[in-house]
Amino acid sequence: MIKFTLIENALDSIELGMEYLTKAGVDGNASAYKHALLCLFQGAELLLKETLVIVDPIIIFDKNSLFKYCKSPLRPEIEELYNCRSIDTSGVCEELRKYHPNCFSNSSITTLKSVAKERNKIQHFAIQINLSDLMEKLLRLYFLLMKPAFSIVIENRKNGLETNRLDFEVVCERISSFERKFLHSKMKDEFTTGCCAKCGKFSFFILYDGESFPTHCYCTSCGYEVRDKEPWEYETCPDCGIGSLYYDEELKGGVCVCHKCANSL
Ligand SMILES: [Zn+2]
Ligand SMILES: [Zn+2]
Repeated sequence: MIKFTLIENALDSIELGMEYLTKAGVDGNASAYKHALLCLFQGAELLLKETLVIVDPIIIFDKNSLFKYCKSPLRPEIEELYNCRSIDTSGVCEELRKYHPNCFSNSSITTLKSVAKERNKIQHFAIQINLSDLMEKLLRLYFLLMKPAFSIVIENRKNGLETNRLDFEVVCERISSFERKFLHSKMKDEFTTGCCAKCGKFSFFILYDGESFPTHCYCTSCGYEVRDKEPWEYETCPDCGIGSLYYDEELKGGVCVCHKCANSL
């Protein structure tokens, strides 16, 4: 099977989109909002296509063009694929439902379609959009589409023998920096970050969501998570003195989810 990846381009577009979004947040520049939307949407679409390429690269190509340009449409050569058209957003939605039904809910698909519509509006009709409405849509685009897609990509890379370790580390780092920025937009300082007790990467997110104890903790690099714990399931941590230590069956040890400890693991 031919192999290629869209992840680098997807990450570059998302990063550029985040830069525009930060700029837009600072000076309220409408053109920066427009570019943020264009780049983030393009990045999301590439990222979602990457989750399909992982299943089989030919999924992201238009079937008619595969038959038109490739000698064996089911086993095309990479050179032949350069001539083929790739599927559009509604095609991506259909394939996601087919190949990743458990990762993308109906609201994920509806969100993708609605952000695609906003993108078309500003791209082709230059229509001004309501900024708070746009921000809300971009957050949904991240949490309902990009985030589950990143999990698929990471899971696949973790298991891939051909994966270059350094390359994998960089991808994990870039993904956790997006998570940090989008979480900040969503919940300001209602979260902290620390070092993951399982994989040791600095991509462990500790969410408080208005409570005095963590409501959900997870690592964007290895998928380790702590959730649905009641406050009484935590014990006092001998290191930081805070009631944030619990016994983890999987790791066979105590894990402190207070950021003070998680930062110094
Ligand atoms: Zn981890
Ligand atoms: Zn502690």
